[in-house]
Amino acid sequence: MNYESVIGLEVHVQVKTVSKLFCSCPTSFGAPPNSNICPICAGYPGVLPVLNKKAVEAIVKTGLALTCRINLESIFARKQYFYPDLPKNYQISQYEKPVAEDGMLSLLSSNSSQKVRIRRIHLEEDAGKLLHTIGSLELEYSLVDLNRTGIPLMEIVSEPDLTSPKEAYEYLSTLKNILEYLEVSDCDMEKGSLRCDANVSLRPIGSQTLGNRVEIKNMNSFHGVQEAVTYEIKRQTEVLNSGNRVVQETRLWDSDQKETRVMRSKEEAHDYRYFPEPDLLPLKLEENWVEAIRAQLPELPEKKRKRFIEDYQLSEYDAAVLSSAPEMAHYFEKASSYLKSPLAPKIISNWITTELLGRLNTSNCPIEKGVISPEALAELVGLILNGTISGKIAKIVFEEMWSHNKFPKQIIQEKGLVQVSNEKEIEVWVLESISKNPKAVEEYKNGKEKAIGALVGYIMKISKGKANPDLVNQILKKKLA
Ligand code: ADP
Ligand code: MG
Ligand code: ZN
Repeated sequence: MNYESVIGLEVHVQVKTVSKLFCSCPTSFGAPPNSNICPICAGYPGVLPVLNKKAVEAIVKTGLALTCRINLESIFARKQYFYPDLPKNYQISQYEKPVAEDGMLSLLSSNSSQKVRIRRIHLEEDAGKLLHTIGSLELEYSLVDLNRTGIPLMEIVSEPDLTSPKEAYEYLSTLKNILEYLEVSDCDMEKGSLRCDANVSLRPIGSQTLGNRVEIKNMNSFHGVQEAVTYEIKRQTEVLNSGNRVVQETRLWDSDQKETRVMRSKEEAHDYRYFPEPDLLPLKLEENWVEAIRAQLPELPEKKRKRFIEDYQLSEYDAAVLSSAPEMAHYFEKASSYLKSPLAPKIISNWITTELLGRLNTSNCPIEKGVISPEALAELVGLILNGTISGKIAKIVFEEMWSHNKFPKQIIQEKGLVQVSNEKEIEVWVLESISKNPKAVEEYKNGKEKAIGALVGYIMKISKGKANPDLVNQILKKKLA
Protein backbone atom coordinates (compact mmCIF):
# COMPACT_ATOMS: atom_id res chain seq x y z
CA MET A 1 0.00 0.00 0.00
CA ASN A 2 1.09 3.58 -0.57
CA TYR A 3 1.16 5.88 2.41
CA GLU A 4 1.29 9.61 2.85
CA SER A 5 3.10 11.20 5.73
CA VAL A 6 1.42 13.56 8.18
CA ILE A 7 3.60 15.85 10.27
CA GLY A 8 2.82 18.31 13.05
CA LEU A 9 5.48 20.35 14.82
CA GLU A 10 5.69 21.66 18.37
CA VAL A 11 8.21 24.46 18.59
CA HIS A 12 9.48 25.90 21.87
CA VAL A 13 11.17 29.24 21.58
CA GLN A 14 12.80 31.21 24.31
CA VAL A 15 11.17 34.61 24.56
CA LYS A 16 13.73 37.40 24.49
CA THR A 17 13.25 39.09 27.86
CA VAL A 18 15.69 40.54 30.38
CA SER A 19 14.19 38.63 33.29
CA LYS A 20 12.47 35.30 33.83
CA LEU A 21 8.75 34.58 33.46
CA PHE A 22 7.73 34.72 37.12
CA CYS A 23 10.68 36.29 38.96
CA SER A 24 13.28 38.97 38.33
CA CYS A 25 16.29 36.69 37.80
CA PRO A 26 18.28 37.49 34.64
CA THR A 27 17.93 35.27 31.56
CA SER A 28 21.54 35.73 30.41
CA PHE A 29 23.18 32.78 28.71
CA GLY A 30 26.43 31.24 29.95
CA ALA A 31 26.32 32.44 33.58
CA PRO A 32 27.98 30.13 36.18
CA PRO A 33 25.63 27.27 37.18
CA ASN A 34 22.94 28.19 39.70
CA SER A 35 23.89 31.86 39.77
CA ASN A 36 20.74 33.15 38.05
CA ILE A 37 18.32 31.77 40.61
CA CYS A 38 16.13 32.91 43.49
CA PRO A 39 13.62 31.24 45.83
CA ILE A 40 10.86 31.60 43.21
CA CYS A 41 12.53 29.86 40.26
CA ALA A 42 14.30 27.41 42.56
CA GLY A 43 10.87 26.26 43.68
CA TYR A 44 10.99 27.07 47.39
CA PRO A 45 7.68 26.50 49.16
CA GLY A 46 5.47 29.47 49.82
CA VAL A 47 6.81 31.87 47.21
CA LEU A 48 4.52 33.47 44.65
CA PRO A 49 5.00 33.93 40.91
CA VAL A 50 4.54 37.36 39.30
CA LEU A 51 4.00 37.41 35.54
CA ASN A 52 6.49 39.21 33.26
CA LYS A 53 4.57 41.67 31.06
CA LYS A 54 7.26 41.71 28.37
CA ALA A 55 6.77 37.99 27.80
CA VAL A 56 3.05 38.52 27.35
CA GLU A 57 3.74 41.31 24.89
CA ALA A 58 6.00 39.02 22.88
CA ILE A 59 3.48 36.19 22.64
CA VAL A 60 0.70 38.58 21.64
CA LYS A 61 2.97 40.00 18.94
CA THR A 62 3.74 36.50 17.70
CA GLY A 63 0.10 35.46 17.80
CA LEU A 64 -0.93 38.49 15.77
CA ALA A 65 1.87 37.98 13.23
CA LEU A 66 0.68 34.40 12.74
CA THR A 67 -2.90 35.67 12.33
CA CYS A 68 -4.12 33.96 15.50
CA ARG A 69 -7.12 34.90 17.57
CA ILE A 70 -5.85 36.48 20.79
CA ASN A 71 -7.79 35.29 23.82
CA LEU A 72 -8.44 38.31 26.01
CA GLU A 73 -8.61 35.91 28.90
CA SER A 74 -6.25 32.98 29.26
CA ILE A 75 -5.43 30.66 32.12
CA PHE A 76 -2.14 29.38 33.52
CA ALA A 77 -2.11 25.72 34.50
CA ARG A 78 0.15 23.37 36.41
CA LYS A 79 1.57 20.57 34.34
CA GLN A 80 2.79 18.02 36.83
CA TYR A 81 5.58 15.55 36.47
CA PHE A 82 8.63 14.49 38.39
CA TYR A 83 12.09 15.13 37.07
CA PRO A 84 15.23 16.37 38.89
CA ASP A 85 15.45 19.48 36.68
CA LEU A 86 11.98 20.61 37.79
CA PRO A 87 12.27 21.76 41.42
CA LYS A 88 8.55 22.46 41.96
CA ASN A 89 7.51 19.12 40.43
CA TYR A 90 5.23 21.07 38.15
CA GLN A 91 5.74 23.45 35.29
CA ILE A 92 3.55 26.52 34.97
CA SER A 93 2.12 26.36 31.47
CA GLN A 94 -1.18 26.99 29.75
CA TYR A 95 -3.56 24.22 28.88
CA GLU A 96 -7.24 24.80 28.18
CA LYS A 97 -7.02 28.49 27.36
CA PRO A 98 -3.78 29.60 25.74
CA VAL A 99 -3.02 33.20 24.76
CA ALA A 100 -3.35 32.59 21.02
CA GLU A 101 -5.22 30.10 18.83
CA ASP A 102 -6.15 29.32 15.23
CA GLY A 103 -3.45 30.98 13.18
CA MET A 104 -1.81 30.42 9.86
CA LEU A 105 1.69 30.41 8.44
CA SER A 106 2.48 30.52 4.71
CA LEU A 107 5.59 28.55 3.89
CA LEU A 108 8.28 30.79 2.44
CA SER A 109 9.68 28.51 -0.19
CA SER A 110 10.46 29.50 -3.71
CA ASN A 111 7.91 27.21 -5.34
CA SER A 112 4.87 26.88 -3.16
CA SER A 113 2.38 29.04 -1.37
CA GLN A 114 1.34 26.34 1.04
CA LYS A 115 -0.33 27.30 4.26
CA VAL A 116 -0.01 25.52 7.60
CA ARG A 117 -2.56 26.05 10.32
CA ILE A 118 -1.29 27.03 13.75
CA ARG A 119 -3.31 25.33 16.47
CA ARG A 120 -2.17 27.31 19.48
CA ILE A 121 0.58 29.37 21.08
CA HIS A 122 0.97 29.37 24.82
CA LEU A 123 3.38 30.68 27.45
CA GLU A 124 5.25 28.44 29.83
CA GLU A 125 8.35 28.35 31.98
CA ASP A 126 11.43 26.35 31.07
CA ALA A 127 12.90 23.62 33.28
CA GLY A 128 16.53 23.40 34.42
CA LYS A 129 19.40 21.48 32.96
CA LEU A 130 21.08 18.25 34.06
CA LEU A 131 24.76 17.58 33.46
CA HIS A 132 25.57 13.90 33.56
CA THR A 133 29.08 12.86 34.43
CA ILE A 134 30.29 9.57 33.17
CA GLY A 135 32.86 7.87 35.38
CA SER A 136 33.24 4.61 37.22
CA LEU A 137 29.97 3.20 38.51
CA GLU A 138 30.19 4.52 42.10
CA LEU A 139 31.24 7.98 40.88
CA GLU A 140 28.52 8.47 38.32
CA TYR A 141 26.35 11.39 39.22
CA SER A 142 24.36 14.22 37.70
CA LEU A 143 24.57 17.93 38.40
CA VAL A 144 21.57 20.23 38.39
CA ASP A 145 21.76 23.75 36.99
CA LEU A 146 18.63 25.81 37.61
CA ASN A 147 19.68 28.90 35.62
CA ARG A 148 17.16 28.00 32.95
CA THR A 149 14.22 27.26 35.24
CA GLY A 150 11.61 29.91 34.83
CA ILE A 151 12.95 31.29 31.55
CA PRO A 152 9.93 32.23 29.41
CA LEU A 153 9.09 29.97 26.50
CA MET A 154 6.43 30.17 23.84
CA GLU A 155 5.17 26.87 22.54
CA ILE A 156 3.91 27.14 18.99
CA VAL A 157 1.90 24.10 17.95
CA SER A 158 1.00 23.45 14.33
CA GLU A 159 -1.89 21.38 13.03
CA PRO A 160 -0.73 18.16 11.30
CA ASP A 161 -0.70 19.93 7.92
CA LEU A 162 2.85 19.23 6.81
CA THR A 163 3.29 16.41 4.35
CA SER A 164 7.04 15.97 3.85
CA PRO A 165 10.37 16.37 5.66
CA LYS A 166 11.22 19.24 3.31
CA GLU A 167 8.03 21.08 4.27
CA ALA A 168 8.89 20.57 7.93
CA TYR A 169 12.22 22.24 7.24
CA GLU A 170 10.55 25.10 5.37
CA TYR A 171 8.04 25.57 8.16
CA LEU A 172 10.83 25.95 10.69
CA SER A 173 12.86 28.38 8.61
CA THR A 174 9.80 30.49 7.83
CA LEU A 175 8.83 30.56 11.49
CA LYS A 176 12.35 31.46 12.58
CA ASN A 177 12.41 34.22 10.01
CA ILE A 178 9.16 35.69 11.35
CA LEU A 179 10.26 35.44 14.99
CA GLU A 180 13.51 37.20 14.16
CA TYR A 181 11.64 39.95 12.35
CA LEU A 182 9.44 40.39 15.41
CA GLU A 183 12.53 40.43 17.64
CA VAL A 184 10.80 38.12 20.10
CA SER A 185 13.44 35.38 20.11
CA ASP A 186 17.01 34.68 19.04
CA CYS A 187 15.91 31.30 17.69
CA ASP A 188 19.35 29.85 18.28
CA MET A 189 19.05 26.06 18.44
CA GLU A 190 22.62 25.72 19.67
CA LYS A 191 21.94 27.89 22.71
CA GLY A 192 18.70 26.04 23.29
CA SER A 193 16.55 29.07 22.51
CA LEU A 194 14.60 27.07 19.91
CA ARG A 195 13.62 23.43 20.26
CA CYS A 196 11.36 21.37 18.09
CA ASP A 197 9.48 18.11 18.59
CA ALA A 198 8.15 16.46 15.46
CA ASN A 199 5.02 14.33 15.37
CA VAL A 200 4.90 11.89 12.50
CA SER A 201 2.26 9.44 11.32
CA LEU A 202 1.35 7.67 8.11
CA ARG A 203 -1.99 6.94 6.49
CA PRO A 204 -3.07 5.32 3.25
CA ILE A 205 -3.10 7.93 0.47
CA GLY A 206 -6.52 9.54 0.28
CA SER A 207 -7.55 8.50 3.78
CA GLN A 208 -8.88 11.26 6.03
CA THR A 209 -8.29 9.58 9.39
CA LEU A 210 -5.01 10.15 11.15
CA GLY A 211 -2.74 7.23 11.89
CA ASN A 212 -0.95 6.54 15.18
CA ARG A 213 1.72 9.14 15.71
CA VAL A 214 5.22 9.04 17.03
CA GLU A 215 6.72 12.06 18.72
CA ILE A 216 10.43 12.62 18.03
CA LYS A 217 12.64 14.69 20.30
CA ASN A 218 16.29 15.63 20.57
CA MET A 219 17.01 17.19 17.18
CA ASN A 220 19.56 19.97 17.36
CA SER A 221 19.16 21.66 13.99
CA PHE A 222 16.48 22.21 11.33
CA HIS A 223 18.42 19.86 9.13
CA GLY A 224 18.31 17.31 11.96
CA VAL A 225 14.50 17.63 12.07
CA GLN A 226 14.34 16.95 8.35
CA GLU A 227 16.60 13.90 8.70
CA ALA A 228 14.75 12.53 11.73
CA VAL A 229 11.36 12.86 10.02
CA THR A 230 12.73 11.21 6.87
CA TYR A 231 14.04 8.32 8.94
CA GLU A 232 10.81 7.98 10.86
CA ILE A 233 8.66 7.89 7.71
CA LYS A 234 10.81 5.08 6.36
CA ARG A 235 10.67 3.17 9.66
CA GLN A 236 6.89 3.47 9.94
CA THR A 237 6.45 2.44 6.31
CA GLU A 238 8.39 -0.74 7.03
CA VAL A 239 6.37 -1.41 10.18
CA LEU A 240 3.09 -1.05 8.29
CA ASN A 241 4.27 -3.03 5.27
CA SER A 242 5.21 -5.93 7.49
CA GLY A 243 1.63 -6.03 8.76
CA ASN A 244 2.28 -4.46 12.16
CA ARG A 245 0.86 -1.35 13.81
CA VAL A 246 2.77 1.81 14.63
CA VAL A 247 3.04 2.13 18.39
CA GLN A 248 2.18 5.56 19.77
CA GLU A 249 5.39 6.54 21.56
CA THR A 250 8.08 9.13 22.08
CA ARG A 251 11.37 8.43 20.31
CA LEU A 252 14.74 10.13 20.52
CA TRP A 253 16.72 11.13 17.46
CA ASP A 254 20.34 9.99 17.52
CA SER A 255 22.21 12.29 15.17
CA ASP A 256 25.34 10.10 15.16
CA GLN A 257 23.62 6.83 14.34
CA LYS A 258 21.02 8.67 12.23
CA GLU A 259 18.10 6.77 13.72
CA THR A 260 15.26 7.22 16.20
CA ARG A 261 15.03 5.05 19.31
CA VAL A 262 12.21 4.42 21.78
CA MET A 263 12.34 6.72 24.78
CA ARG A 264 9.01 6.08 26.46
CA SER A 265 5.41 5.38 25.63
CA LYS A 266 3.65 8.60 24.67
CA GLU A 267 2.17 10.29 27.70
CA GLU A 268 -1.39 11.55 27.51
CA ALA A 269 -2.63 14.90 28.78
CA HIS A 270 -4.34 13.25 31.76
CA ASP A 271 -0.98 11.90 32.92
CA TYR A 272 -0.03 15.45 33.83
CA ARG A 273 -3.06 16.10 36.04
CA TYR A 274 -3.34 19.65 34.72
CA PHE A 275 -5.25 22.09 36.89
CA PRO A 276 -5.52 25.90 36.91
CA GLU A 277 -2.55 27.52 38.66
CA PRO A 278 -4.00 28.78 41.95
CA ASP A 279 -1.18 31.30 42.49
CA LEU A 280 -1.93 33.27 39.31
CA LEU A 281 -5.07 35.10 38.33
CA PRO A 282 -6.52 34.53 34.88
CA LEU A 283 -4.51 36.63 32.43
CA LYS A 284 -6.75 39.42 31.17
CA LEU A 285 -5.68 41.56 28.26
CA GLU A 286 -7.21 44.82 27.24
CA GLU A 287 -8.31 45.03 23.66
CA ASN A 288 -6.68 48.46 23.27
CA TRP A 289 -3.39 47.08 24.43
CA VAL A 290 -3.58 44.22 21.92
CA GLU A 291 -4.53 46.63 19.14
CA ALA A 292 -1.60 48.89 20.01
CA ILE A 293 0.71 45.91 19.55
CA ARG A 294 -0.96 45.06 16.25
CA ALA A 295 -0.41 48.62 15.04
CA GLN A 296 3.29 48.33 15.75
CA LEU A 297 3.90 45.02 13.98
CA PRO A 298 6.77 45.35 11.51
CA GLU A 299 6.34 44.47 7.86
CA LEU A 300 6.78 40.70 7.76
CA PRO A 301 9.04 38.79 5.34
CA GLU A 302 6.30 37.54 3.02
CA LYS A 303 4.87 41.01 2.54
CA LYS A 304 8.28 42.57 2.17
CA ARG A 305 9.22 40.05 -0.46
CA LYS A 306 6.13 40.84 -2.51
CA ARG A 307 6.78 44.56 -2.18
CA PHE A 308 10.40 44.15 -3.31
CA ILE A 309 9.18 42.37 -6.44
CA GLU A 310 6.57 45.02 -7.19
CA ASP A 311 8.40 48.19 -6.19
CA TYR A 312 11.91 47.33 -7.31
CA GLN A 313 11.24 44.77 -10.06
CA LEU A 314 13.46 42.23 -8.37
CA SER A 315 13.28 38.55 -9.28
CA GLU A 316 11.52 36.14 -6.89
CA TYR A 317 14.89 34.77 -5.90
CA ASP A 318 16.58 38.11 -5.20
CA ALA A 319 13.54 39.35 -3.30
CA ALA A 320 13.58 36.19 -1.15
CA VAL A 321 17.28 36.55 -0.38
CA LEU A 322 17.05 40.24 0.44
CA SER A 323 14.00 39.89 2.65
CA SER A 324 15.37 36.89 4.54
CA ALA A 325 16.75 39.07 7.34
CA PRO A 326 15.50 42.47 8.46
CA GLU A 327 19.02 43.92 8.49
CA MET A 328 19.63 42.87 4.92
CA ALA A 329 16.29 44.23 3.73
CA HIS A 330 17.07 47.49 5.46
CA TYR A 331 20.52 47.63 3.88
CA PHE A 332 19.10 47.08 0.40
CA GLU A 333 16.38 49.71 0.77
CA LYS A 334 18.77 52.20 2.28
CA ALA A 335 21.27 51.79 -0.57
CA SER A 336 18.49 52.03 -3.17
CA SER A 337 17.17 55.23 -1.62
CA TYR A 338 20.30 57.15 -2.67
CA LEU A 339 19.81 56.62 -6.39
CA LYS A 340 17.01 57.80 -8.64
CA SER A 341 17.60 55.57 -11.66
CA PRO A 342 14.97 52.81 -11.98
CA LEU A 343 17.84 50.48 -12.90
CA ALA A 344 19.64 51.05 -9.61
CA PRO A 345 17.81 48.63 -7.26
CA LYS A 346 18.37 45.65 -9.53
CA ILE A 347 22.10 46.44 -9.80
CA ILE A 348 22.38 47.06 -6.06
CA SER A 349 20.62 43.76 -5.44
CA ASN A 350 23.14 41.98 -7.69
CA TRP A 351 26.09 43.47 -5.85
CA ILE A 352 24.63 42.46 -2.50
CA THR A 353 23.73 38.90 -3.43
CA THR A 354 26.89 38.11 -5.37
CA GLU A 355 29.84 40.18 -4.12
CA LEU A 356 28.82 41.37 -0.67
CA LEU A 357 27.07 38.33 0.83
CA GLY A 358 29.85 36.00 -0.25
CA ARG A 359 32.44 38.07 1.57
CA LEU A 360 30.24 38.60 4.63
CA ASN A 361 29.66 34.85 4.90
CA THR A 362 33.29 33.83 4.59
CA SER A 363 34.40 36.41 7.13
CA ASN A 364 31.39 35.71 9.36
CA CYS A 365 30.56 39.38 9.53
CA PRO A 366 26.99 40.68 9.92
CA ILE A 367 25.79 43.06 7.21
CA GLU A 368 24.68 45.66 9.77
CA LYS A 369 28.27 46.10 10.88
CA GLY A 370 28.59 48.17 7.73
CA VAL A 371 32.05 47.14 6.46
CA ILE A 372 30.70 48.48 3.20
CA SER A 373 28.00 50.98 4.06
CA PRO A 374 24.80 51.30 2.00
CA GLU A 375 25.99 54.82 1.06
CA ALA A 376 29.28 53.48 -0.29
CA LEU A 377 27.61 50.74 -2.33
CA ALA A 378 25.11 53.24 -3.73
CA GLU A 379 27.99 55.51 -4.72
CA LEU A 380 29.65 52.63 -6.56
CA VAL A 381 26.48 51.74 -8.43
CA GLY A 382 25.94 55.41 -9.26
CA LEU A 383 29.41 55.56 -10.82
CA ILE A 384 28.65 52.49 -12.94
CA LEU A 385 25.32 53.94 -14.05
CA ASN A 386 26.77 57.29 -15.12
CA GLY A 387 29.61 55.62 -16.98
CA THR A 388 32.47 56.81 -14.78
CA ILE A 389 33.67 53.25 -14.33
CA SER A 390 32.98 50.00 -16.13
CA GLY A 391 31.56 46.92 -14.42
CA LYS A 392 35.00 45.37 -14.56
CA ILE A 393 36.72 48.29 -12.84
CA ALA A 394 33.87 48.34 -10.33
CA LYS A 395 34.96 44.89 -9.15
CA ILE A 396 38.45 46.20 -8.44
CA VAL A 397 37.00 49.21 -6.63
CA PHE A 398 34.69 46.94 -4.64
CA GLU A 399 37.62 44.83 -3.49
CA GLU A 400 39.34 48.00 -2.23
CA MET A 401 36.16 49.15 -0.51
CA TRP A 402 35.95 45.82 1.27
CA SER A 403 39.54 45.72 2.44
CA HIS A 404 40.22 49.40 3.12
CA ASN A 405 36.85 50.77 4.12
CA LYS A 406 37.06 53.66 1.65
CA PHE A 407 34.48 55.29 -0.58
CA PRO A 408 34.59 54.44 -4.30
CA LYS A 409 35.25 58.01 -5.48
CA GLN A 410 38.34 58.21 -3.32
CA ILE A 411 39.62 54.85 -4.58
CA ILE A 412 39.07 55.83 -8.20
CA GLN A 413 40.94 59.09 -7.64
CA GLU A 414 43.84 57.43 -5.90
CA LYS A 415 44.18 54.62 -8.40
CA GLY A 416 43.37 56.62 -11.51
CA LEU A 417 40.59 54.21 -12.47
CA VAL A 418 38.21 56.63 -14.16
CA GLN A 419 36.74 55.17 -17.29
CA VAL A 420 37.94 56.76 -20.51
CA SER A 421 35.02 57.94 -22.61
CA ASN A 422 36.94 60.40 -24.75
CA GLU A 423 36.40 59.32 -28.37
CA LYS A 424 39.75 60.62 -29.59
CA GLU A 425 41.65 58.60 -26.99
CA ILE A 426 39.63 55.49 -27.71
CA GLU A 427 40.17 55.90 -31.45
CA VAL A 428 43.95 55.72 -30.90
CA TRP A 429 43.52 52.40 -29.03
CA VAL A 430 41.13 51.10 -31.68
CA LEU A 431 43.58 51.82 -34.50
CA GLU A 432 46.42 50.19 -32.60
CA SER A 433 44.30 47.09 -31.99
CA ILE A 434 43.37 46.83 -35.67
CA SER A 435 46.98 47.12 -36.80
CA LYS A 436 48.29 44.63 -34.21
CA ASN A 437 45.61 41.95 -34.79
CA PRO A 438 45.40 41.43 -38.55
CA LYS A 439 44.15 37.86 -38.17
CA ALA A 440 41.13 38.85 -36.09
CA VAL A 441 40.39 41.67 -38.51
CA GLU A 442 40.51 39.22 -41.42
CA GLU A 443 38.18 36.77 -39.68
CA TYR A 444 35.74 39.51 -38.76
CA LYS A 445 35.62 40.70 -42.35
CA ASN A 446 34.93 37.10 -43.43
CA GLY A 447 31.79 37.14 -41.36
CA LYS A 448 33.00 35.71 -38.05
CA GLU A 449 31.46 38.29 -35.75
CA LYS A 450 32.94 36.78 -32.64
CA ALA A 451 36.43 37.70 -33.77
CA ILE A 452 35.74 41.23 -32.58
CA GLY A 453 36.21 39.93 -29.04
CA ALA A 454 39.96 39.64 -29.54
CA LEU A 455 40.14 43.25 -30.73
CA VAL A 456 38.12 44.52 -27.75
CA GLY A 457 40.21 42.40 -25.40
CA TYR A 458 43.40 43.97 -26.73
CA ILE A 459 42.03 47.47 -26.15
CA MET A 460 40.98 46.60 -22.60
CA LYS A 461 44.46 45.32 -21.95
CA ILE A 462 46.33 48.38 -23.22
CA SER A 463 43.85 50.74 -21.55
CA LYS A 464 44.15 48.78 -18.27
CA GLY A 465 40.41 48.16 -18.33
CA LYS A 466 39.60 51.85 -18.42
CA ALA A 467 38.20 52.16 -21.95
CA ASN A 468 34.43 52.59 -22.01
CA PRO A 469 33.32 49.23 -23.50
CA ASP A 470 30.25 50.60 -25.28
CA LEU A 471 32.27 53.27 -27.03
CA VAL A 472 35.04 50.80 -27.87
CA ASN A 473 32.54 48.52 -29.61
CA GLN A 474 30.92 51.39 -31.43
CA ILE A 475 34.15 52.95 -32.72
CA LEU A 476 35.69 49.58 -33.53
CA LYS A 477 32.73 48.56 -35.67
CA LYS A 478 32.78 51.90 -37.46
CA LYS A 479 36.48 51.62 -38.26
CA LEU A 480 36.21 47.99 -39.39
CA ALA A 481 33.31 48.88 -41.67
P1 ADP B 1 1.05 16.51 22.85
O1 ADP B 1 1.41 17.68 23.69
O2 ADP B 1 0.62 15.33 23.63
O3 ADP B 1 2.17 16.13 21.94
P2 ADP B 1 -1.08 17.52 20.91
O4 ADP B 1 -2.35 16.78 20.74
O5 ADP B 1 -1.20 18.96 21.25
O6 ADP B 1 -0.22 16.90 22.01
O7 ADP B 1 -0.31 17.36 19.53
C1 ADP B 1 0.88 17.88 19.33
C2 ADP B 1 1.26 17.89 17.87
O8 ADP B 1 1.07 16.64 17.25
C3 ADP B 1 0.55 18.92 17.04
O9 ADP B 1 1.53 19.63 16.34
C4 ADP B 1 -0.28 18.09 16.08
O10 ADP B 1 -0.36 18.72 14.83
C5 ADP B 1 0.51 16.82 15.98
N1 ADP B 1 -0.30 15.64 15.68
C6 ADP B 1 -1.40 15.23 16.33
N2 ADP B 1 -1.84 14.07 15.80
C7 ADP B 1 -0.99 13.74 14.79
C8 ADP B 1 -0.88 12.65 13.86
N3 ADP B 1 -1.75 11.64 13.87
N4 ADP B 1 0.14 12.68 12.99
C9 ADP B 1 1.03 13.67 12.99
N5 ADP B 1 0.99 14.69 13.83
C10 ADP B 1 0.00 14.74 14.73
MG1 MG C 1 4.01 16.81 22.17
ZN1 ZN D 1 14.36 33.55 40.04
